[in-house]
Amino acid sequence: MSGDVFDPEQLSRCISCGFCLPACPTYAMTGDEASSPRGRITLMRALQDGTLPPDDPTLAEQSSFCLGCRACEPVCPAGVQYGSLLEQWRVHQWRGRRRPPLARALTLVAGQRWLLRLLGLVRGAARGPAAAPPTGQLMLGCFERGLYPGVSRAARSLDPTLAVPAAQGCCGALHAHNGDLAGGERLARGLGEELPGTIVTTSGGCAAHLASVLGPQRVRELSTWLAGRPPGVELRVAGRRARVTLQDSCHLRNGLGVFAEPRALLRQVADYVELPSAATCCGAAGTYSLLRPKDSRRILDGKLDEIEAAGVDLVVAVNPGCLRQLRTGLRRRRSAVRAVHLAELLAEAATPDRP
Ligand code: SF4
Ligand code: SF4
Repeated sequence: MSGDVFDPEQLSRCISCGFCLPACPTYAMTGDEASSPRGRITLMRALQDGTLPPDDPTLAEQSSFCLGCRACEPVCPAGVQYGSLLEQWRVHQWRGRRRPPLARALTLVAGQRWLLRLLGLVRGAARGPAAAPPTGQLMLGCFERGLYPGVSRAARSLDPTLAVPAAQGCCGALHAHNGDLAGGERLARGLGEELPGTIVTTSGGCAAHLASVLGPQRVRELSTWLAGRPPGVELRVAGRRARVTLQDSCHLRNGLGVFAEPRALLRQVADYVELPSAATCCGAAGTYSLLRPKDSRRILDGKLDEIEAAGVDLVVAVNPGCLRQLRTGLRRRRSAVRAVHLAELLAEAATPDRP
């Protein structure tokens, strides 16, 4: 009997109604109950009460196949906190040497503060104190400062009152979602001490994780931070107003309920087109695109078809993982559509003398 894998109260909440099934991308792919939120909760219960042994292959497969997108949460009438259950499941399932080597390597890298600092310096991420007493602290993210340093520079240009301390580690979301929940909470608390006051982040996934550990009052995702500010100039493409669409960040939308704010900002500077599947995962899902590339690409392909059919110039992301996923997929197709982060697009719209 595995007894203590899950918080019993959380696990008992599911009433097996099935309302979550239509929202689940992996269930849509397979039509298999085991790949649905309800089916996975049944598996969790079987693990908890010992009906299934811990090394059961279905447990291993379904804990990995799940995107962790939390699309099952907002539609659940019983308030099941599925994201939290999945984190607990992976702590058990991926303990010790069972954790996928790639996930272990990535969490190891993200936990190295000196390496993150060096990455930020080399790649030219935003830095420096705010001119006046800071209104908030801009978080640089672990992989964002290496892959997309222009995002933090754009965010800082949109709000120069933000301080950007160079000494800041990883928020721990990567760890929490990949079998190291304790490490993820420790890193979030450490970052909370390094960035006192309000933490402003350009990553929806980091915002949700930080809010779960430090409390929502300490954390603001960029679109909520900028909400209500005066619009930039109109963004134009080929002599006309740009047509843009948004890919939601799953954890920002399903975990924090933030989806109206980025859309409102985009409507101020461009013609906004809503994708039918904007709220559905793009397949990036943290490390998912690296650990399960075939499944990730299958999910992405349908999304890219939609983006191209929408006739937009730009698709906007509010999370670095989604940005990487969309950019990679669009480049692979040699698509004319460009993927940008919300901060980059707004900074571009705020620059009236651009060519
Ligand atoms: S987190 Fe996403 S993929 Fe996993 S069960 Fe919920 S809806 Fe399905
Ligand atoms: S909607 Fe909620 S209560 Fe209903 S089956 Fe899904 S997780 Fe369980």
